[in-house]
Amino acid sequence: MFFPNNKLKALTFSYDDGVEQDRRLVKLFNKYHLKCTFNLNSGIQSGSSRWENQGVSVARMNVQGLKELYKGHEIAVHSLTHPKLEKLDTETIENEIVQDIINLQNIFDCKIQGMAYPYGTYDNRVINVLKENNIKYARTVKESENFNIQSNLLELEATCHHTNANLMKLAEEFVSMNPEEPKIFYIWGHSYEFDVEGRWDRMEKLCAFLSNREDIFYGTNSEVLLRNS
Ligand SMILES: [Zn+2]
Repeated sequence: MFFPNNKLKALTFSYDDGVEQDRRLVKLFNKYHLKCTFNLNSGIQSGSSRWENQGVSVARMNVQGLKELYKGHEIAVHSLTHPKLEKLDTETIENEIVQDIINLQNIFDCKIQGMAYPYGTYDNRVINVLKENNIKYARTVKESENFNIQSNLLELEATCHHTNANLMKLAEEFVSMNPEEPKIFYIWGHSYEFDVEGRWDRMEKLCAFLSNREDIFYGTNSEVLLRNS
């Protein structure tokens, strides 16, 4: 498996929940030509879904305008209403996943191929529903802190969350490495965390550092992960 133009390194991002802060994050990704997959809960994709996180107001966006906002990036399943899926009966697990796929396909007029588990939790019944519905990869909240290609795409581990203390160290390692086999740098998070932690500057620094490099392929999750399927 090579990435386009025989590149051996790929960078991809994954951000969850479809909140207002995604607007700023998309701008940042677009400025640096980086690609992200956004994982959405179509059953509660409304400004009425709001909460507070350490004094910062967090609200999901309304659906109108999202297709334009996320243009050029990938949309993936995060379940209809963000429950702990493994706590539900199998029929409700199916409803949470299948109806999210249908809604997202309708809203974004695109093929839905991926998922991020709400809270990162799941069981075998959840994995079976994904298989039955042609979902090809599903992200957990585990951090591998490496760039290795993974074979079990339905229990995918990110390289790291953007708050990982080793983030810049990993970025430097990734930029300087000259691999003989394909490597993926996969970063995930929630955009509201940049407001909560006051860390937009750090994220922009990271994006600038990783961008515009000839030996790195910049793709959405599916563009990076599904090159062989
Ligand atoms: Zn979430």
